[in-house]
Amino acid sequence: MLPHDHLPRAREELRRLVAIPSVSARGEKLAECAEAVRDLLTEAGFNTEIQPGDVGPFVVGEIGSGPLTVMIYNHYDVQPEDPVSLWHSPPFEMSERDGRWYGRGVADDKGEFVSRLAGWRLFRERHPGPLPFRLVWLVDGEEEIGSPSLEAFLKRRFDGEAVDVCWWEYGEIDASGRPIILCGFKGVMAVELRARTARADLHSSLGAVFDNPLWRLAAATASLRDGTGQILIDGFYDAVRQPSLSDSELASAPPYSLDSLMDATGAQRLLDGIDAPNFYRAVNFEPCMNVNGFSGGYAGEGAKTVLPAEGAVKIDFRLVPDQDPQRIVALLRAHLDRHGFDDIELIVHDANVKPVRSVTDHWFVQDAKAALEEHFGQPAIVQPSSPASGTAHPFVEQLGAEIVGLGLTHHGAMLHSPDENIIVDQFARTIECSAAILAKLSRRATRMSGRSDPEPMPEGETA
Ligand SMILES: [Zn+2]
Repeated sequence: MLPHDHLPRAREELRRLVAIPSVSARGEKLAECAEAVRDLLTEAGFNTEIQPGDVGPFVVGEIGSGPLTVMIYNHYDVQPEDPVSLWHSPPFEMSERDGRWYGRGVADDKGEFVSRLAGWRLFRERHPGPLPFRLVWLVDGEEEIGSPSLEAFLKRRFDGEAVDVCWWEYGEIDASGRPIILCGFKGVMAVELRARTARADLHSSLGAVFDNPLWRLAAATASLRDGTGQILIDGFYDAVRQPSLSDSELASAPPYSLDSLMDATGAQRLLDGIDAPNFYRAVNFEPCMNVNGFSGGYAGEGAKTVLPAEGAVKIDFRLVPDQDPQRIVALLRAHLDRHGFDDIELIVHDANVKPVRSVTDHWFVQDAKAALEEHFGQPAIVQPSSPASGTAHPFVEQLGAEIVGLGLTHHGAMLHSPDENIIVDQFARTIECSAAILAKLSRRATRMSGRSDPEPMPEGETA
């Protein structure tokens, strides 16, 4: 059980952070929120600093030394609150209804940060001595706009340093309350293809003579993927890392069914070849290509017989280790040229987020799993890769860290949407679980440095 004063204190801290509208898309209140986060870390015993970023500053807290270095990564910026009219309570005033707290950032990511911080205090209450490992807490102010200066900042601030584990900004809890440990994230490449075939729109009768830009874009798009979802760009799969045996095993036992996914999303058409036994493998390990939208010509009411002069299509790819988005851009260009689409312009909107996947049987994953199962009272799910993406690769490439995500983001948390919320009971459990994970880290570091554990096991804790 969580000692009585921890939850009210954490709630008050979260309420104060939510009240600061630190919207990075508008560059709003970032310095103020960074200072609030810095003060919380300082008060919790960390050596702290605020370092400039392109848009919002980074907050760094550090404490301890020893044979292990663990980095906790969070962010204090939030998504814009729009559309405000759909919120049932003001977005920047945390409110409680039906066992949930509502407000922008209560989950993403201020709630994740505060729950861990409360867990840290609980852990320190039980283990007040010198910390036997190095803990670095990095809180980003630009995550919701794609962390534009994170990579350069890590290079500058942590040059040549190594980190064993990066505890990622969030983790998930499914609809039945089972915690999910995320061990990887897909990469992203987002592009736009543009075609222009005339100075201005033409009478459609000229379609007897001239090609059509939307037709060219449709043909180019269709040449990129088949009905099974297989991508037809030469060399696209060359760098794909085969999942390890244990990752494959994890993916062969889906924690939820294909039917439940179809129910939850309302999606009805499966790719050819996708079925109940293999869909979860695709979720974890398969890259995919999406057409986000076509534009051009006449799409208004009724008919307008026109031969458009230009058009565009936006496409994104989700990539898996070790595909490099920049390399895929080059392969896409070569594909278009080779297939007679050399007149089509390729605009790159995003090719900066690389895929990562950590070792699922890593000791930190196993320790976290044990702590989650104890405090949530259910088997935890180890998921080799989220189907979604995050800027995790600098931690892997520059610092050599394993990326592991666990936290309190439940599947109805409405991230980035009106009525963002967390479940108070899960918040409390995450506090206890965070304390337990820190205690396990502490014991591991003590063992690694060859000292026997000097402390008896405090009440409320298991090995
Ligand atoms: Zn977010």
